[in-house]
Amino acid sequence: MKKIRFFYLYACCIPVKGTERSLIMDTQRNNFYFIPNVLFEILTKHRTKSISKIKKIYHEEQAIDDFFDFLIEKECGLFMNTLGSFPQMDLDYQCPSLITNAIIETDRNSQHNYASMFTQLSNVNCLAIEMRFYDFIALQDLKKIVDQTYDSTFRSINIFLPYSATYEQDAMKKFLLQNVRVQHVIIYDAPQFSFMMEEQNSSCLEYVAHTMDEKCGYVSPKYFRVNREMFCESIKWNNCLNRKVSICKDGSIRNCPAMAQQFGNIATCDLKHVVTQKAFTKLWNINKNKIMVCRDCEFRYMCHDCRAFITDSNNIYSKPLHCKYNPYETIWS
Ligand code: SF4
Repeated sequence: MKKIRFFYLYACCIPVKGTERSLIMDTQRNNFYFIPNVLFEILTKHRTKSISKIKKIYHEEQAIDDFFDFLIEKECGLFMNTLGSFPQMDLDYQCPSLITNAIIETDRNSQHNYASMFTQLSNVNCLAIEMRFYDFIALQDLKKIVDQTYDSTFRSINIFLPYSATYEQDAMKKFLLQNVRVQHVIIYDAPQFSFMMEEQNSSCLEYVAHTMDEKCGYVSPKYFRVNREMFCESIKWNNCLNRKVSICKDGSIRNCPAMAQQFGNIATCDLKHVVTQKAFTKLWNINKNKIMVCRDCEFRYMCHDCRAFITDSNNIYSKPLHCKYNPYETIWS
C-alpha cells in the first residue's frame, strides 16, 4: 500500500509572515531563511495536510517539490509518514525574574553606591547588566566595581568604555580572563574597528568607531537575534523594555535611559517596589504586533524594538525612528 507522505517542519523552525515575503526563524541554529508567502501558507494553514493534497490545492507539482527540497536542504524538516508523534513547541514566555536586564550609566559626576545597587538588582533576580561609561575609568577602578558583583545574580556583564590608548589589548584580555561574568567589552569612539574573541571563556573585546549616542534604537540585521527566547518574548512583550531597568548617571531610575520619565532615585528608593508599579511597566506589553509597519514586517520577532526614538512622538505605536527597512518593498534604504 502506498504510504501518505507529510512534511514535518521542525518545531524550532518557526515561519513568520510579512506583507511581501515570509521567513523561517531557525531558532536552534540562530539563522533565518526567506520564503515566499505561499510557502508560509503551506507550512501553517496546510501544515497537517499530505503532500499530495497540497499539490492538488495549488496545482503546482514542481513548485511544491522545489519548496520542500529547499526546506530539506536547509535542514528545516523532513518527510514523514505521520505527524502524530511531534507536538508543537510551547512558545509561552516564562521568566522567574522581575527584571532580566539592567543598564547602568556612569560619568565623572556619578555618585553610585555600586554594592547597594547590585544588591537591589539581585533582589529582583536581574540576570544581565550593561555598564555604560561616558568618561574614562582606569582599568583597576573598573575591576573594583566588577568585583562587587561577586555574589550577585548576574550571569553576564557587558561594558561600554570610551576609547583610551591606555586600554591596551593585553591588559583588556587579562581583565576578561579574570572576570568571567564579563562577556563583552566594547570600546567606542575608537580610531578603527577591531574584534577579538577570547577562546578560553568566549568573551569578546571590540573596538568600534561609533559613539555611545549611536547605540540606542538603531535597527540593522547585525542586531537581529534569532533564538527561541527572543521569539517567545517578542510575540507577547516589548522585546527591549520588558523587564528592563536603567540606572542613569544621576542615579535616576527609568525603564530605558533614553526615556524622559523617571521613577525616583536608586540612592533613596526600593528598586523592587519601583519596578512592580503599573506606571513603570506600562510600555512592556507593546509587542511588535501592535507597532505600525513592524506588524507587517517579516523581521518583527528577531528585531529589537525601540519606544524612545519613534517616527511619531505623539503615537507610542509608531515605527522605530532609526529603522530604514520598508517591509512593503522589502528594501533597506
Ligand atoms: S520595520 Fe520594524 S520589525 Fe521591521 S526591521 Fe524595521 S523596526 Fe524591525
